[in-house]
Amino acid sequence: MRNVKSIVKVYEELIDKLLKERWIEGNKHLERVLKRTPRRAAKALLELLEGYRKDFKVAAFPYAGTGDQLVTCIGHTVYTICPHHLLPVEMVVSVGYVPRHKVLGLSKLPRLIDSLAHTLSLQEEFASELLRLINTAVSPKGAVVHVRGKHSCVRARGARSTSTTETLMAVGEVDKEEFLCLVRSAL
Ligand SMILES: [Zn+2]
Repeated sequence: MRNVKSIVKVYEELIDKLLKERWIEGNKHLERVLKRTPRRAAKALLELLEGYRKDFKVAAFPYAGTGDQLVTCIGHTVYTICPHHLLPVEMVVSVGYVPRHKVLGLSKLPRLIDSLAHTLSLQEEFASELLRLINTAVSPKGAVVHVRGKHSCVRARGARSTSTTETLMAVGEVDKEEFLCLVRSAL
């Protein structure tokens, strides 16, 4: 994997500086446990950020339907990394749009959500970027995105609150309330 060596080195230094020198000096068992940790941690981080290597362009198909049908993808769970603390965020993402002349393939939305989540992103920016990408791909009559986030940086440290953070964003003609009912009944 490209860049993995340099990241492994950083994790080795981190373990040396923060762990060995401060808290676990002389703990032979833990030193053995941590032996391959820099490599594992580097690979995990690169996997969580693999969205940067992906193309966010999404293929669309012609749509000839009539009426305002809401196309949805509800409750897709993904993990992102918060850019403020570099800690994971679990996000349950739901999307709906009312097609005009084009629709996305059924597997395209979860893939797009996945790729976008594998970058450093704030929840609100993630939601607005997802909305923008859907808008660009299919020019719908309206689109809506709902994200329920569980932030490790809020839950495990700092406020240590187990609350969730909800984001709801929409553009154009779409019934936000109807969509939110669908999301709430499914989650
Ligand atoms: Zn954070």
